[in-house]
Amino acid sequence: MTGLGSTAIGPGRTAADGGLDLEQGTSPVDVLATRLARSELLRQVPGVAHGVTGRVPSMGTAEGNVGYSPPRDAADAWGMRRRWCQAAGLNADLLATVGQVHGVEVLQADGKDAGRGARPGSGRVGLGDALITDQPGVVLMTLHADCLPVLLVDPDRPAVAAVHAGWRGTVAGIVGRAVRAMTDAFGSHPGRLVAFMGPGIGPCCYEVGPEVVGAWMERGEVAGTDARWAIRATTTGATFDLKRANTLLLREAGVVEEHIDVHPDCTRCQGNHWFSHRGQGADTGRFGAMISITASGTSRGIS
Ligand SMILES: [Zn+2]
Repeated sequence: MTGLGSTAIGPGRTAADGGLDLEQGTSPVDVLATRLARSELLRQVPGVAHGVTGRVPSMGTAEGNVGYSPPRDAADAWGMRRRWCQAAGLNADLLATVGQVHGVEVLQADGKDAGRGARPGSGRVGLGDALITDQPGVVLMTLHADCLPVLLVDPDRPAVAAVHAGWRGTVAGIVGRAVRAMTDAFGSHPGRLVAFMGPGIGPCCYEVGPEVVGAWMERGEVAGTDARWAIRATTTGATFDLKRANTLLLREAGVVEEHIDVHPDCTRCQGNHWFSHRGQGADTGRFGAMISITASGTSRGIS
């Protein structure tokens, strides 16, 4: 858990600044480019583009939301997807999404899946909580409001993954399953993978019930570390640290700690910048974690 240089979002960012200060001549896409969360570690991999969208008060009708499900405004969200993608150097028409069910299903996307789940009414790749691909020309995206996004890159193939990990997915080991799926499908070596955990709800705000603690502690040790490392007792119960838990699970799957970049934000504490189910209610927006291979061929850059 060494913050390997996730970009803080935008110049002059403070916990309290909510609105936008649009200087003359600054386009909305320029603004969104400063608000994308990106990992310096992943940016070192040539031929791969990524970005995590955020919450930007005054952007669109729903503050930059990219989720379609009611009561959200799908037309506005599609417009926001296009802007965010443009800001990230990605093509929104090539987005591929899944129906997320807090499970452990990992789906493989190929070229024909590009656009499945991009525009409103364009379907989806399937039901599941992780997408993997080794195909350029498809942009993987998972949607979040507190649940942790994890982006994975195999710089050798290259191949990429986008994972949605809430407590259920975490306890069930979705991120390790995604690593194994990349190994099975693409011959990826876990020790070469690079991971970016985006913003998610922090242990400061994630009180959980005994069913969560019990399900996680059943693992005993994870990657040689007491599973208790991700649980903290409070006066009223316990908190669960999704980032710590998923770091352990990645290490258990063979990913080296130096290749794991963790964004520091808690989505609830930094609610001005992220949609938070716990902080803002069930009807709040969704932010998207996106990743795509932009060029084929062997890449280098991470040793
Ligand atoms: Zn918090």
